[in-house]
Amino acid sequence: MLAASSSLLNIPTVIVDVGTQAPAKQILAPAAPHLAHVDGSFSDPEKIRELAAKVDVLTVEIEHVNVDALEQAQRTHGVEVHPAPSTLRIVQDKFRQKEHLRSRAIPVARFLDVAGPAAQGIGEAAAALGLPLMLKSRTLAYDGRGNFVLRDLSQLREALDFLSGRPLYAEKWVPFVKEIAVMVVRTAGGQTFSYPVVETVHKDNICHLVFAPLRSRDPQLYVRAQEIAEMAVKSLDGAGVFGVEMFLLEDGQILVNEIAPRPHNSGHYTIEACETSQYENHLRAILSIPIGPTTLKVPSAAMLNLLGASSDMHELTEFVEFALSVPGASVHLYGKAEYRKGRKMGHITLTADSDAEIRARLRELLQRLPGDKS
Ligand code: ADP
Ligand code: MG
Repeated sequence: MLAASSSLLNIPTVIVDVGTQAPAKQILAPAAPHLAHVDGSFSDPEKIRELAAKVDVLTVEIEHVNVDALEQAQRTHGVEVHPAPSTLRIVQDKFRQKEHLRSRAIPVARFLDVAGPAAQGIGEAAAALGLPLMLKSRTLAYDGRGNFVLRDLSQLREALDFLSGRPLYAEKWVPFVKEIAVMVVRTAGGQTFSYPVVETVHKDNICHLVFAPLRSRDPQLYVRAQEIAEMAVKSLDGAGVFGVEMFLLEDGQILVNEIAPRPHNSGHYTIEACETSQYENHLRAILSIPIGPTTLKVPSAAMLNLLGASSDMHELTEFVEFALSVPGASVHLYGKAEYRKGRKMGHITLTADSDAEIRARLRELLQRLPGDKS
């Protein structure tokens, strides 16, 4: 999606990813032979060096990259890296990220390091923070794959098996009424611009639906969520868009859950629903060209993730054929070769003149969504 945006602005773009048919490479032909895409992993320092030698500005779409190699690229190739490697280092380690946010007086749930032998540390954290307890892997976590909800201490063994030897920390359970998110654009100079506040609905720890904008009887809630999100993003260095995931509590309190230092699933709706998409504004921010308006251009929007439900790609194509008949539905398929359970294959954005229309169209889609009969 970033590649699609860069092609519209004639910005020559080089991608590093495994394989010649990686999704982003399917969008963009190399602008010149010396700008051929790099075949390899974003965690391989050699591949990052190879990429750095070809570009003026380097950015990431995933935070689990090799930060040492990015810093070296900055030093030896004079490449601008966005967001700043220091930001990626903080965000990569969820415990460090939480410590950073807390030190900047940004509201977060109580949390504790699980130091020493994990079983003992978890017991101590449960005594201090109560049950249920959210255990999280500090690193390489996404789509809930590093999280375990400890409801009872008898699950200790199960938790340790699931999180097998990963560095952990514990978080107090947050009885949220809603999950909300704000995409924030940050310029290299530290100016910030918020996109609308949205409601996100997760299923099995993976983003399932996004509703834009968030509806609430409290007009101040919207303003406070944007203020907190911008405060969090201002505390980090470098340009680009950032996704700020938050919890809304019964009493109206907002806690930051985590920050994604890149375009984010909760911002996919911006492609059709906002004046400037998160991808275009990411490019504008990292290239220091004027930021586009972040406002909604439709009364109501929703986003539905297309997750693999089996290994039979036919169910996806059949569903997509139906989705194309729904008014206001825009289908995005990511060009992934294999359909697997739980894999993000694409998404659908719905736009409409009212929330009621959105709900009606969404209901039709959900009734036919593979693996989902809710
Ligand atoms: P990931 O990196 O996998 O997105 P998150 O930390 O965002 O991990 O957790 C995934 C989901 O788990 C969240 O969107 C939320 O639904 C739930 N969750 C995370 N932390 C807590 C918590 N402390 N209390 C209750 N639910 C939580
Ligand atoms: Mg998350």
